[in-house]
Amino acid sequence: MSRPLDLTVMMYHYIRDPGDVAEADSGIPGMSVKTFETQLDELATKHTFVTWTDVRLALQEEKSLPGSACLLTFDDGVCDHYFNAFRILRERNLSGLFFVMDRRDADGLILAHKIHFLLAKAGLPALRDAIWEKLNPSQREQFGQAEQKYQLKYPPISLDSQINLLKAVLQRDLSPDVDPILSDLFEAHVGSEKRIANKYYLNPDQIREMVAGGMHVGGHSRSHPWFDWIDSEARAGEIKASADWVQQFEPGPWAFAYPYGGLSDDSPNLLEAHGFRAAFTTQTQLHHINPYLIGRLDGEEVAQEGQGYA
Ligand SMILES: [Zn+2]
Repeated sequence: MSRPLDLTVMMYHYIRDPGDVAEADSGIPGMSVKTFETQLDELATKHTFVTWTDVRLALQEEKSLPGSACLLTFDDGVCDHYFNAFRILRERNLSGLFFVMDRRDADGLILAHKIHFLLAKAGLPALRDAIWEKLNPSQREQFGQAEQKYQLKYPPISLDSQINLLKAVLQRDLSPDVDPILSDLFEAHVGSEKRIANKYYLNPDQIREMVAGGMHVGGHSRSHPWFDWIDSEARAGEIKASADWVQQFEPGPWAFAYPYGGLSDDSPNLLEAHGFRAAFTTQTQLHHINPYLIGRLDGEEVAQEGQGYA
């Protein structure tokens, strides 16, 4: 185990403006390009930006990090990262760590992104109704039980909370059942899933160009499941696929980000066995004791809270 690490890690997902090439009229909102740039300006006044290599060397106790170090990370391998993040980082001579899924041309969208598209298209009540209509009686029973279970965590106090409740049900308990249902709804209401997915995610050429431009790439699984929801064998398969994918872009050891921030006790060992030297969570934390549980701050939340970060 390495020494504890003091490090501010920023986490980003969508960085886009309405109608730009990343948003592509999907209606799916994200952090605006301007807000992202303003946040980089603010971070630069308080922090020294570091790269994945710097963090890896610190974990290997070969070189220590500067004081107030800050690492920029980007999840899900969406094309926003090529068109907006990479462009802006390169202008500023900064590096980012980009967590990409292992994906092929024949793959569609991950469940979470199908939900984003359909929510933007139909809204929450209509999407919930459309899914409900396609469930059989036993799936409906499971749906109802799952909703009850997550209602404590996501009480119906706001639209966001209600959306999170539906996401929890769909992305966990009902995930194998609703995945094909959401693909059907996608084809009917949005368009060709495979065609859209191939534009929506970074392709290998873009990733190569980003790495050549000083960016780093890390693993984010193959199918983006909750790691506490699948079994150990499935977790091992997801992690191995991820290592096989990232090794074509840069030599290891690499970093990993847990899909949805889902944790399991065996993940650190599995990750280490497959060449990952660190893993990032979605928990808000600036002092990190375990290199496989490095916390992060959500850039969009920080922007909404103003000067909320330390
Ligand atoms: Zn993710």
